[in-house]
Amino acid sequence: MENLKRIGVLTSGGDAPGMNAAVRAVARTALANGIECIGIRRGWQGLINCDFIQLTRASVGHLLSKGGTILYTARSEEFKTPEGRQKALVTCKMLGLDAVVAIGGDGTFRGALELSRLGVPVVGIPGTIDNDIGCTNYTIGFDSACNTAIECIDKLRDTMQSHERCSVVQVMGRDAGFLALYVGTAVGATAVLVPEHVDDFEKNVIERIRGAKLAGYTHFMVVVAEGAGTAHDVGQRIHDALGIAPTITVIGHIQRGGAPTGRDRETATRMGYYAVMALVEGQGNCVIGTQEGSIVQIPIEDALKMEKHLQMDRYNIMEIMQFGSNHEGEM
Ligand code: ATP
Repeated sequence: MENLKRIGVLTSGGDAPGMNAAVRAVARTALANGIECIGIRRGWQGLINCDFIQLTRASVGHLLSKGGTILYTARSEEFKTPEGRQKALVTCKMLGLDAVVAIGGDGTFRGALELSRLGVPVVGIPGTIDNDIGCTNYTIGFDSACNTAIECIDKLRDTMQSHERCSVVQVMGRDAGFLALYVGTAVGATAVLVPEHVDDFEKNVIERIRGAKLAGYTHFMVVVAEGAGTAHDVGQRIHDALGIAPTITVIGHIQRGGAPTGRDRETATRMGYYAVMALVEGQGNCVIGTQEGSIVQIPIEDALKMEKHLQMDRYNIMEIMQFGSNHEGEM
C-alpha cells in the first residue's frame, strides 16, 4: 500500500490470551517497515472516542507472557450505528490512520467490514478462546483457554477420585463445542456435551455413566460446553436419571486469563506480522487465518460467510477412548 505512514491496532470483543503478543507483533512489524503504530484503546469504542496511545518498540516489550490486553477491550453498540462509525472515521482522519488492524472475533470483523466500506483499509486477526471463526483453523487464545480448563479439571479429578463421585464441569466456548470437546478428550471425560450434538442426552451422557459404572469405574467426569446447557441442569438430569448427586463446577472467566501458551504466542506473532505485511503489500480488507498450518489472507466479506463445523470424528475418538472393548481407560 503506497504511503502507508501510520496504522492503528485495537482489540475488541472478548479478550483472549495471546492478544498482547499480536499487538506487539503488529507494532514491531509496522515500525520495522517505517510505519508508525497507534494503539486504539477499548476496541471500536476507542476509535469513536479517540482513545489512543503511541506504541513504540519498547512500550510493547515484555508483553509475550502477559494475559489480557494492554489496549483493553470493549463491546460498542455505538459503532454498530452509522453515526458511531462516522465518528470513528473522523478519528481515523484526525490521527492520520492509513489502516487499522482489528484483533477479535466475528463481531469485530463485521465492524471491520463496515469501516472498510468507509474507505479505511482494515485487516482482522482472529482472537477468541472459542475457536469458532469459520475462515481459520485456529484462533488466538484457544490453546491457552483449553490448557487452563484442563489444569482445573485435573485438580478436580483428584478430589473426585478420592470421594468416588460424579463431576459436571461447564467450560466456555459460546455457541460452539470446540473447546469442550478438546478439553473433554484431553482429560478423558466420561461424556462431553456439545451444542452440535445435544440430541440424545440419554445415550450421550446417562448411558455412558451407566456403562462406566458397570465397567467398575467409581468416578465420572462430564464436560459441558456452555452452549449445550448449564452444568446445574445437566447435574439435575443426571441426578433424576441415576440417583447420584454430581458436584457442579463452572470454570468461567478463568479460562480467558493467564499467560498465553507457546502456541498462542507464536501464532499471534505470525498473524500480527502477516497482518501488517498484507497492508504493506496493498492487501487491506482481509482476515488473517491459518489453514493447514500456513497463514492465509481471506477477504473480510468471504471470511464472514465461512462456517466451521465440529469434526465428528474427534467426537467419536473421544467416546472410543473411554469405552474400548476391554473398558480399560483413564477412568
Ligand atoms: P468474541 O467472539 O470474543 O465475543 P467478537 O469480536 O465476536 O468477539 P462482539 O461483541 O460480537 O465480539 O463484537 C465486538 C464489537 O464489534 C461489537 O461490540 C461492535 O462494536 C462491533 N460489531 C459487531 N457487529 C457489528 C456490526 N454488524 N456492525 C458494526 N460493528 C459491529
